[in-house]
Amino acid sequence: MSNDRPLPIITNDNRPFWAAAREHRLVLPACLDCGKPFFPIGPVCPFCFSAHLEWRRMAGRGTVSSFVIYHQAFFAWFKDKLPYAVAQVELEEGPRLNGNVLGVSPSALAIGMRMEVVFEDVTSEVTLPQFRPVVAG
Ligand SMILES: [Zn+2]
Repeated sequence: MSNDRPLPIITNDNRPFWAAAREHRLVLPACLDCGKPFFPIGPVCPFCFSAHLEWRRMAGRGTVSSFVIYHQAFFAWFKDKLPYAVAQVELEEGPRLNGNVLGVSPSALAIGMRMEVVFEDVTSEVTLPQFRPVVAG
């Protein structure tokens, strides 16, 4: 992999998310008081403001709720990837997660398309959760 690929910054708040991704598991914080998982990752539940949280495994399936198609590379690494798509996927559990879209032409992408998470090992520290269309079902 190219060294100039932009990668996420791992912090104490999001470290469990990236540790699970390395094991090809998708986890998000979930509230122990109201029961809801949420994203973006934060120190309190955005629904009831409880700080009693756990990390919960997500099934990794959902539907496209929004997407953008990039025709311009804002980082040099993406120049030969153009055009590429980034989708917001509403997981079956509720939270909406952003990720690159693989395995489908950007022009064929559509709101409501069923997606599943796929993991790309990029470095020894970073594995990126991304999405691809569900082939069957
Ligand atoms: Zn809550």
